Amino acid sequence: PKVIFSGIQPTGIPHLGNYLGALKQWVKLQNEAAPDTTLIYSLVDLHAITIQQDPDQLRKWRKESFAMLLAIGLDPERSTIFHQSHVPAHCELMWILSCQASTGYLARMTQWKEKTAGEKDNSAKLKLGLFSYPVLQAADILVHGATHVPVGHDQAQHLEFSRQIANGFNTVIGRNVLVAPETLISPAKRVMSLKDPSAKMSKSHKDAKSRILLTDTEEEIGEKIKKAMTDSLDGITYDPERRPGLSNLIDLLHYTDEDASKIDQVTIAKELSGMPLRIIKEKVATAVESAIRPIRERYQALVENDALLNDAAARGCEKATESAAKTLVKIKNAVGLS
Ligand code: ATP
Ligand code: MG
Repeated sequence: PKVIFSGIQPTGIPHLGNYLGALKQWVKLQNEAAPDTTLIYSLVDLHAITIQQDPDQLRKWRKESFAMLLAIGLDPERSTIFHQSHVPAHCELMWILSCQASTGYLARMTQWKEKTAGEKDNSAKLKLGLFSYPVLQAADILVHGATHVPVGHDQAQHLEFSRQIANGFNTVIGRNVLVAPETLISPAKRVMSLKDPSAKMSKSHKDAKSRILLTDTEEEIGEKIKKAMTDSLDGITYDPERRPGLSNLIDLLHYTDEDASKIDQVTIAKELSGMPLRIIKEKVATAVESAIRPIRERYQALVENDALLNDAAARGCEKATESAAKTLVKIKNAVGLS
């Protein structure tokens, strides 16, 4: 049977890139899953603290992110939804995997290189937790015996690392204790920043105008898309290499508009050619607003409901603890720790 696992950091309210690139897929997998498929979704708060966080802000984001996972349509009875820090087995497996992980491999990870770009000559500022982030991520996945991991494109390299560490561990132990997971990349695998279309949309980017949050109002969505960076070339064409800003808007239309989802981006661009950019941006904003509105409305009710959120988190913790314990006992046994 399939075991689907994925995670999101509670580093802010999830944005359109998180939704189209990952969360929408989580819900689809849940709704189309065979009865014997297990679905496990985590708010990876231990990953969030690899970057300095304000404690009160983090507390708030953990709760808000949990409410958002319910608002998008995850069902806490069908899926296991939990805070990573509630299940210590993730850290226990991480330590065991750390004893196998290659520092050379970790040093080549794009996320590590990007997030430490300014600090290269200042090793006192380079944090061990950020460096070993992919080892914890591998533990998250492997501790539940996940077979499939739905993520956006930026996580493909970390998933490759997880497979490598699982296979390496199995080789050392001499039998298949860990499952090497398959990566499921969603069609909308890389939604770009509205301010710098050469970078992906991110929760942690300093410019709030670069992303559309799932809680943004119709006005905020309209305003952000209106100001989205495009180019000054003539006409409307779909060309992600040469026209990343415009192509990102066409992608957004394709992934949020019912009619536009039925045709490819090149055809959409042909149909839009001749229209002023202002009108195209309005069309994109309307489509995004109708995709987000029901989520935003459910979120507003859920985030006020502490009792429901606490119950769901407790239930998720219980199910995730049970799931992780099954693998951890096998691993401890395999390495001689039991
Ligand atoms: P942070 O800036 O804190 O890293 P983030 O926006 O990158 O935040 P994550 O919590 O790291 O969000 O990632 C959650 C999921 O969303 C992952 O599966 C990731 O691949 C996916 N994702 C993140 N950004 C995008 C994007 N711009 N397009 C498509 N998928 C994305
Ligand atoms: Mg990220």
